[in-house]
Amino acid sequence: MAFESLSDKLSAAFKRLKSKGKLTEDDVKTAMREVRLALLEADVNYKVAKEFTKKISDRAIGSEVMESLTPGQMVVKIVNEELTELMGGGEARLKMPSSGPCIVMLCGLQGAGKTTHAAKLGRLLKKQGHRPMLVACDVYRPAAVKQLQIIGEQAGVPVFEEGQGNPIQISKDAVRHARDYGNDIVLIDTAGRLQIDDKLMDELKNIKEAVQPSEILLVVDSMTGQEAVNVSKIFDEKLEITGVILTKLDGDTRGGAALSVKAVTGKPIKYAGIGEKLDDIEVFHPDRMASRILG
Ligand code: GDP
Repeated sequence: MAFESLSDKLSAAFKRLKSKGKLTEDDVKTAMREVRLALLEADVNYKVAKEFTKKISDRAIGSEVMESLTPGQMVVKIVNEELTELMGGGEARLKMPSSGPCIVMLCGLQGAGKTTHAAKLGRLLKKQGHRPMLVACDVYRPAAVKQLQIIGEQAGVPVFEEGQGNPIQISKDAVRHARDYGNDIVLIDTAGRLQIDDKLMDELKNIKEAVQPSEILLVVDSMTGQEAVNVSKIFDEKLEITGVILTKLDGDTRGGAALSVKAVTGKPIKYAGIGEKLDDIEVFHPDRMASRILG
């Protein structure tokens, strides 16, 4: 299960703290050292782990905690609050424009789950009362267009495609089509590559320029840990993403990506993929994730 090892290590550290009556600064420091190690083992970015534990120490060593009747529990409460904050605080909603369809570009490396999440997101938004439309702009792999058509149909969301045409033209045509047919959300499935290259970035920049999206969501695989964070950083620098969809949280991910993406890129995780089925997507709630990690 995701975060299992991190959760176990954190609860061991907190168990010792909670068993003490009064806490000394040394008790807090020892616990924070354990927390930092647990975070590093979970593949959390080094700087993020260091700053995180420092913040908690600073708050925990304050008189409010040290003199309270249940100092150990107060520390755990602080960790919960700071974990929530680290992952973005509140839930991050899709930014809807004041007029015209909400255009969402979905980007990511091949295999991250981009196509699946285009369909999952379409289905989720449809359930919320929207009229989304999927756009097949991954024109380099012939199978990709077909894959989107098949899963779009399963998800009950229409797919706009022009075969192996020019992705910039396809996106523009798709937006026009959406306006004509009253689709209020346009989800553009862009091409993925095995690695980030200039050609991929230029194409994405050109689509961005052509359709002026409200959202550029990067789909990243949580199982790849720090690599997911690095990829997010590079995409953000080149493309200015507006958020992240973190996939495969149902696997045995150690948690590093979930805990570091926001701190490293400044961009929130908006959705989480939690399985292979089309309903396995949720709005990302930092507070619920923090509680899950803390057990
Ligand atoms: P793309 O190349 O980025 O478009 O990736 P796909 O959407 O084709 O997904 C790659 C693989 O990951 C497929 O086998 C999906 O079923 C699987 N996958 C996608 N999202 C999730 C998820 O949240 N959990 C799990 N377990 N598998 C997923």
